[in-house]
Amino acid sequence: MSISVTVARFQGKQRQDIIQEVQKQMQDGALQAIKQVLSACLEAEVTAKLGREKGEPRRASSHARESDWACGYCGCQDANHFTRDGHDQRNVETGYGHLHALPIPMVECQRCHHDVICRFALLEKSERFWLDLQQDALFSSGLGQSLRAIKERWSGQLGSPVGLRTMNELIHQVEPLVHQMQEQHFPEAPTVVQCDGIWVTVQSQTPAMALDKAHRKRHQRSGKKVVILVALGFWPDGRREILDWEIESLEDHTQWELLLNRLWVREVTAEQGLQMIVRDGCGGLGEAVALVYGNSILDQRCIFHTLKNVGEKVRSELKGKDDKETRKALMEQAALIYRAPDAAAARQQLGEWAHTWRLQAPEAVAALERDVEHTLVF
Ligand SMILES: [Zn+2]
Repeated sequence: MSISVTVARFQGKQRQDIIQEVQKQMQDGALQAIKQVLSACLEAEVTAKLGREKGEPRRASSHARESDWACGYCGCQDANHFTRDGHDQRNVETGYGHLHALPIPMVECQRCHHDVICRFALLEKSERFWLDLQQDALFSSGLGQSLRAIKERWSGQLGSPVGLRTMNELIHQVEPLVHQMQEQHFPEAPTVVQCDGIWVTVQSQTPAMALDKAHRKRHQRSGKKVVILVALGFWPDGRREILDWEIESLEDHTQWELLLNRLWVREVTAEQGLQMIVRDGCGGLGEAVALVYGNSILDQRCIFHTLKNVGEKVRSELKGKDDKETRKALMEQAALIYRAPDAAAARQQLGEWAHTWRLQAPEAVAALERDVEHTLVF
């Protein structure tokens, strides 16, 4: 359509109509472009699998070109026997809207003239929702959005209703992937693993019924406290990644042992480069680290907890407002020890720091002297 534009300012309904029309045209334009990009990428995947451009003759006489695509009938996997065979069409839902009749390349086996089953990296077989929406479902529900809210947002975006069951299925697709991830070995172990337990409350429905504020009958909800045990890995090149997690009702050594054992099996070990596990003072985790890793790595209560401990001591030794600046100076100098360029410099700094403060705050000094060797990393 064409929009006639006048110099006067648009108001009310007219303004709304124009904005809506512009948005619609933007979406149509975007969808056309996306269709082109997606189909060009699918063609490129076929070119890569067959090892030849469109129109280039196949080299049936040369060596076999082993492919991970296979003929659905005779099982042939030699791409030199595969040829392009027109297109199929599929409707795909994307985060930009509904993609109508996306051309999907088809490939034929020249040994038996049946279809080759093409597994595109960019488009999974018979998947109605494209990757961006699958990701959106996972992220949105992971960030605590209700299925109902996601479903309503999508239905608006796609211009057609999306069912709750569909949403549920999309989110549960992640489950086998999680199990797969929990078994995958690391090519190179992280040098440092940080372990922490994060307590959260999970809401769930109980069978009991009760009336809500609007006097409707509803299932009673109950909150249950659970702990998410998380292991975060750090590599020397600055990479960091959540290695694994476990949701439990308590945080003692048997739960941590389960998680650490899985990491050990995945070769997060001293032999593969692991140097240290950083943790808070919780006893259960320390016991689990000792059980799984023995003496092969450093088990370190983290610097934060050591300094916190020093802070508590100094607050009882140098009480009151008058000593506030003194306490601050002591803590700042203590933290600087951890910034020393190497272990020798850190020990030297510690010596000077202890000499400066020992008379005023003997317990704080003793606390840091006791823990510092376990928390220095060089
Ligand atoms: Zn075949």
